[in-house]
Amino acid sequence: MKEKIKEIEQNALAEIASSKNSDSIEKMRVKYLGRKGLVTELFKKMGEARPEERAGLGQLINSLKGVVARALDEKTSIVSGSGGAKIEKIDITLPGVAREVGSVHPVSKTINQICEIFISLGFRVVEGPEIENEHYNFEALNIPLEHPSRDAFDTFYLSDKPVACAEPLSKHKWLLRSHTSPVQARFMEKNKPPFSIIIPGKVFRPDATDASHSFMFHQVEGLAVSESVKFSDLKGVLTIFAKRMFGEKIKMRFRPSFFPFTEPSAEVDISCILCSGAKGPAARDTRQKCGLCGGKGWLEILGAGMVNPRVFKNVGYDPDKVAGFAFGMGVERIAILKYGITDIRMFFENDLRFLKQF
Ligand SMILES: [Zn+2]
Repeated sequence: MKEKIKEIEQNALAEIASSKNSDSIEKMRVKYLGRKGLVTELFKKMGEARPEERAGLGQLINSLKGVVARALDEKTSIVSGSGGAKIEKIDITLPGVAREVGSVHPVSKTINQICEIFISLGFRVVEGPEIENEHYNFEALNIPLEHPSRDAFDTFYLSDKPVACAEPLSKHKWLLRSHTSPVQARFMEKNKPPFSIIIPGKVFRPDATDASHSFMFHQVEGLAVSESVKFSDLKGVLTIFAKRMFGEKIKMRFRPSFFPFTEPSAEVDISCILCSGAKGPAARDTRQKCGLCGGKGWLEILGAGMVNPRVFKNVGYDPDKVAGFAFGMGVERIAILKYGITDIRMFFENDLRFLKQF
């Protein structure tokens, strides 16, 4: 009798394990636990055993019944894919699981805002590779070999030809672009004026990271070329940009500056967003305590100028027949000023408490 119990248990477990759907599981349940099932039959046969053995046999058969029932339940839940053997009902009174909705990153948001303003002025968006060579990053833009920014400390040089780069290996070294300006040269080589383009993208410089420096940041570059573009066009376009970005009350000023790829060149400032308009002796204190502009009353937002004739020559244009203006701004800088952010590192730390505010 004991051997019989053991044998039924082994057979039952093997058959249940090999059943593949709820129908075959149900057949197993009838075969073993049904009214005429094998386990049920064992209980009936107990009467034939000697009285002193019955109690022990009863325990064994009961435990067999439990083992088979559990195996059937487990198999049912596996086959049906639900958590338990019983059919689960959805409790519609329970509160739902809310999913977090993402938002646009402040850097992307700022790039989008900048692009929208220039698109409305007739510019179109152009992009270029982040892996560049010395020619486009420097030479085409009139940055000569001895220029300090070509020093390895200001540019991430790549030791070898990047695998992902489709262009043939030139005599020039490969690097991570240190500004978006190489795209100007790439675009001009393949297109004829007139055109107005803006170029957003990542740039890389080996700066030690602190509150105002990051080894990677974003720029938006602008370039307009035609037979008759003038400096006053540049000034008009940038004034519209600054007013739409920072408000109608913003004032602008151009300071003479130097860039190898523009001539003449200018740094462009806007009146301080926090303390502007604070004039007169009474307001002097407010201005001097301003944390944003440091009491100067002006904030530098971008560099600009008329395209250097040498840059036109480098891309095959005739500098006597075309003119152009170019400008470039740091996206994080614009976002820092617009939203009053104090640390550039906050853009890249992925702290939700920061990112949720935009
Ligand atoms: Zn200020």
